[in-house]
Amino acid sequence: MQIDSFRQQLLQLQSELMNLSSTSVDAAKPVELDQATIGRLTRMDAMRAQSMAIETKVRRQHQLLRVEGALQRITTGDYGVCLTCGEEMNIRRLEVDPSYTQCIKCADK
Ligand SMILES: [Zn+2]
Repeated sequence: MQIDSFRQQLLQLQSELMNLSSTSVDAAKPVELDQATIGRLTRMDAMRAQSMAIETKVRRQHQLLRVEGALQRITTGDYGVCLTCGEEMNIRRLEVDPSYTQCIKCADK
C-alpha cells in the first residue's frame, strides 16, 4: 500500500480545504442590502448567492471531516478498509479520492 503518498495527498487536501473555508466565511453571512448592493443585485439574487455559498461551505466541511477521518485511520492502521463491509478497498478507488470510506460495492447501494 502506498499509504505515505495517500497521507501526503490527504494532508494537502486538508490544508486546501481549511484555507478555502476561512476565505469563504464572508460569503455565507446573512444578506445585507446596502445602497451599493441594491443597484447590482436583486434580493433574490443575493439570497440565491448566499444559499449557494452555504451549500459550498457545508460540502467542504463534510469533505474536511472525511479527510480528517482518513488521516486518523492511517494513524490507527485501519486505512483502506471499507467502513461498511470491512473488506479491503480497491487501491484504484483510493487513488481517485483517498478520503473514500466505502468500497465501490457498498457505495453503490
Ligand atoms: Zn464495502
